[in-house]
Amino acid sequence: MAHRVTLIPGDGIGPELAEATRRVLDASGVEFDWEVAEAGEACIAEYGTPLPEHVLDSIRRNRIALKGPITTPVGEGFRSVNVTLRQTLNLYANLRPARSIQGLETRFEDVDLVIVRENTEDLYAGIEHMVGPDAAESIKIITRAASERIARFAFEYAVANRRRKVTAVHKANIMKLSDGLFLESCRRVAADYEGRIEFEDRIVDNMCMQLVQKPDQYDVLVLPNLYGDIVSDLCAGLVGGLGVAPGANIGADGAVFEPVHGSAPKYAGQNRANPTAMILSGVLMLRHLGYPDVAERVETAVRDVIAEGRTVTHDLGGDAGTAAFADAIVARLGS
Ligand code: NAD
Repeated sequence: MAHRVTLIPGDGIGPELAEATRRVLDASGVEFDWEVAEAGEACIAEYGTPLPEHVLDSIRRNRIALKGPITTPVGEGFRSVNVTLRQTLNLYANLRPARSIQGLETRFEDVDLVIVRENTEDLYAGIEHMVGPDAAESIKIITRAASERIARFAFEYAVANRRRKVTAVHKANIMKLSDGLFLESCRRVAADYEGRIEFEDRIVDNMCMQLVQKPDQYDVLVLPNLYGDIVSDLCAGLVGGLGVAPGANIGADGAVFEPVHGSAPKYAGQNRANPTAMILSGVLMLRHLGYPDVAERVETAVRDVIAEGRTVTHDLGGDAGTAAFADAIVARLGS
């Protein structure tokens, strides 16, 4: 039976990447029935919002979506579609693996990190206001329930994927209450996995330094929302940049798979952007759907094409377009 999946192409480079990804996944052997749903700036004129209710309904119905990036207008106006989507559907876990790819020149060869970012609270709750004309206040929300839930997700991921260690990242030395609660929650959950999965914690600034010096010492990282956002981009940089960094937003009632990067407006419509991050997000989706072998095959095809280096996009040092790169992966899958 075909899997019905909501496909949100997004804007900027999104539609080109979505098309490339759809072609690769259709060539994987798993059958998909794509329900295309438009979201983003272009929807505002027709629906009065960049995230129409029928898009949310489609994801609620199918419980699974593949999404391209969507531009967030800076300053006043609409909230980020991406943040709204994660909060509305309670997609509380943001999973961002960062694994070295042979053929990409980076500082380290064997990086294999998994970033688990809390996706619903922290400063990202968006609770902020002006305090008089010259000061602004942003409120950081950390709850025991959300912190224990994300810690448990990280440990369960570690068990299911045979990882050895979870590191909790925080700034509890300064934010003793909020980050202190996050750390305490992680410790409490860690106790349930004692003897199976190692646990340690690091202060976020020290963590950043250590990650750029000795990333091989770390495995699964669990972080509150804001640190998770920043540290996961750092980890993407360790393995070749945003063009190759996949992601997943997972909740109890659904999951949305999307690349870490944004809509890169300057490359929109130029057949120039790298679809690897979105294709590898599709690989995470295949694993989530219960096709680990197919996922492995698609990931290997992507890695082989990059390692070969003949048909890769500009950001990877080649001159292939988005579509040609996808063609090379499809050909590899068929061979
Ligand atoms: P960006 O990720 O779009 O671009 C950062 C840099 O990386 C640029 O130099 C860009 O050209 C390059 N890049 C990104 N993806 C690439 C790819 N696939 N192939 C080749 N090069 C790639 O970040 P930005 O410029 O800060 O944001 C642009 C817009 O995207 C903003 O409106 C932002 O809010 C939005 N955004 C959306 C998401 C999302 O939809 N989940 C995530 C991040 C940013």
